[in-house]
Amino acid sequence: MTIKKMQKQLFGTNGVRGIVGKEITPELALRIGMALGTMRPGHIAVGRDTRTSGPTLANALKSGLLATGCDVIDCGILPTPALQYIVKEHYDGGAMITASHNPPEYNGVKIIEPDGTEMGDEETIRLEELLADPLVPVKPWDQVGTEVASPHLIDEYIHAIVSQFAGKPGRGMTVVVDPGSGPACQTTPAILQALGCRVLTLNGIMDGTFPGRLPEPSMEGLKGLAALVIASKAAFGVAHDGDADRAVFIDEKGIFVEENQEFALIAQHICTDTKGTIVTPVSTSQMVELVADTAGCAVQYTPVGSIYVARTMRELIGTGTQVVFGGEGNGGLIFPNHQFCRDGGMTAATMVSLLAATGQSLSSLVRHLPQRHMIKEKISTIHGSHLIEQLSKRYAQESIDSTDGLKIKRRNTWALVRVSGTEPLIRIMVDADDSAAASAFYLEIKKSVSEILGNGTTIDAID
Ligand code: MG
Repeated sequence: MTIKKMQKQLFGTNGVRGIVGKEITPELALRIGMALGTMRPGHIAVGRDTRTSGPTLANALKSGLLATGCDVIDCGILPTPALQYIVKEHYDGGAMITASHNPPEYNGVKIIEPDGTEMGDEETIRLEELLADPLVPVKPWDQVGTEVASPHLIDEYIHAIVSQFAGKPGRGMTVVVDPGSGPACQTTPAILQALGCRVLTLNGIMDGTFPGRLPEPSMEGLKGLAALVIASKAAFGVAHDGDADRAVFIDEKGIFVEENQEFALIAQHICTDTKGTIVTPVSTSQMVELVADTAGCAVQYTPVGSIYVARTMRELIGTGTQVVFGGEGNGGLIFPNHQFCRDGGMTAATMVSLLAATGQSLSSLVRHLPQRHMIKEKISTIHGSHLIEQLSKRYAQESIDSTDGLKIKRRNTWALVRVSGTEPLIRIMVDADDSAAASAFYLEIKKSVSEILGNGTTIDAID
């Protein structure tokens, strides 16, 4: 597969993001609106998550779009995948004001292409050039755009997911939804109810101060959800990040389902009925590959980032490959029959259908997955690229994969070393079938890193 990462200045893997009033200002939002309006003239849908800074940034961005002659469809507050679906169905592009899982003081913008995917690297670099250009032309009075409010479009998204499932697979099932005061308050409970579930909610009122928990659905933040799942005898609990493109699960015993297990479990379910390829970044646990092998499916690896997964899925389908599923080991899953982006609402709905189809409890299904052990660490260094180069020479005799950083593959075990695109650090990941094998490989890699970076460079493990 030919998709490669390209270095952008302002935008990261999932749009531009930062602290409101510092990196993210109304002026920046206005310029993004003007740049996007120049690049994608036509009808542009704008949406936002529940953050308090959403209206000020959305208004500035819309102003830029209108000034460059675009017609704006304001979809109000909705999940990122809902806006992506709406753009795919109706419009020439979109802009989502969100900082996803970041704390409340953050905000940002994700740009949506006409096919509903997030903007790719090449196009984003063009957008960044326009952002820096002080001479982007604005239209005269009789050519500026118009704006309509279309908050009802969110219903199309809900309907699109519900219509993927026959009958009412959730009948008799109690489910607890924790949208984390984010935009999924409007979607996931409605989706699961339409599938027949009895739905309880926690943090179910939209609030950009996030009074119940932070937008990152961490194990720590989901203790309340776990308690409510147990108390209500629910089949599972589901929680979203701040823009609901990700979904994570709590089993019926109140235990957090690690996201690679979630991915593997849903992959197993999909591969039972449909054979084809699963697309995922090189950082995903081998658990998914083991499950795919058993079910007669293949795995295609990509650089880290959902946009690379989505674009590789599209590219493979374009060459005639049957692609059945995609996603990352962080709860961001992509269902190609629905759309080519991560979708937390679709993920929650699929879990209902999976439990109904298997008739087993979530904890029992997780227990029967292949066992894996993963170690993740970050190390501060400004010499990341040099390090990867030297490590590649050192491990040249082994089976290596340079899709993103350096992945050294041994039987049933791999180690991945990547340079961060946004911070002066490298990330080390090791995945093995038990903790002893993972620790041994991790210590070996860390020793190599220390030897290469030697020469007075401080290696500072941050976690
Ligand atoms: Mg997100």
